Amino acid sequence: MPVTLTIQPAMPEVHEDPLDLMDEIERLKVEKDAVLLAHFYVDGEIQDIADFTGDSLKLARDAVTVTKSTIVFAGVHFMAESAKILNPTKTVLIPDLLAGCSLADSCPADKLAAYQKQLRAEGHDFQTVAYINTTAAVKSLCDWIVTSGNAREIIERVPADKEILFVPDQHLGRYLSEVTGRPMILWPGSCMVHEIFSIQDLLRAKKNNPGSIVLAHPECPKPILDLSDIIGGTERMRKYVASVEKPTTFLVATEANMIHPLAKLAPQHTYIPVPGIMASDGTTCACNRCPHMARNTLQKVRDCLKTGQPEIVWQPYFADARDVLTHSLL
Ligand code: SF4
Repeated sequence: MPVTLTIQPAMPEVHEDPLDLMDEIERLKVEKDAVLLAHFYVDGEIQDIADFTGDSLKLARDAVTVTKSTIVFAGVHFMAESAKILNPTKTVLIPDLLAGCSLADSCPADKLAAYQKQLRAEGHDFQTVAYINTTAAVKSLCDWIVTSGNAREIIERVPADKEILFVPDQHLGRYLSEVTGRPMILWPGSCMVHEIFSIQDLLRAKKNNPGSIVLAHPECPKPILDLSDIIGGTERMRKYVASVEKPTTFLVATEANMIHPLAKLAPQHTYIPVPGIMASDGTTCACNRCPHMARNTLQKVRDCLKTGQPEIVWQPYFADARDVLTHSLL
């Protein structure tokens, strides 16, 4: 049965020197024959000591090249699950088992199965295309898996005589339907981080930074995308900023940690995170930080390397998810 993750407040950690922790992690990686994969949305200090960094697509592809026996995945649960599915014989560890994803949670496998059944009973002839931000149980019910980096290419592979049911992100699905011209039945899910961006704050930031360029992730709602100059996943953002030589101000509408790899790659620019909704006291919240990604800390990376826990354990439905992940991503 699929694992349901609930968000619980993280326990405060005893302060330890980040440099000591980094040294300890490097030692443990060698001792435990392990590699560290880190998503662009985790803290920059974790990205700095990772063997591989990237978005979901790049990390899934990197995971299958790993020759070490253990993979530590600093990201969220569905990503570590995908790494295990693609590497059944390896040990896959996640620093915090409760690092879930609001988007993945918005599409439970039993509800999707019931909806697919209903659509078939109504006479729809469709294939299900899932964004990678889904549980393995959901992936096992789908025909294709996409990431923001390969979605257009995969949608072109869906036979033209089939309808498309796109899950779970309604904003990404609507955007993809627009750019590919393929009508889609959209599952009404969304990401808590990308949905929160405030149009007023973006307009104010544009006014305060004349000549700036807005980069937005396609998980953002349409009003934000309509105000953006470049729409794309994390790899598209990286390629774009690297292609601009002249120092430029970029307003970044995605998870705020994404600024770390952008600034590393193209340090000549200024990056300003688009703030979230304004609170009643006039301050902006920190809701452009993903609370699930923030569960990854240096201490937890060190601890999971030390103890070999928490581990992603193979589940029977991983086999079907493996078929769909393999033909979609590799
Ligand atoms: S940023 Fe959104 S989609 Fe990404 S892991 Fe966090 S909740 Fe999920």
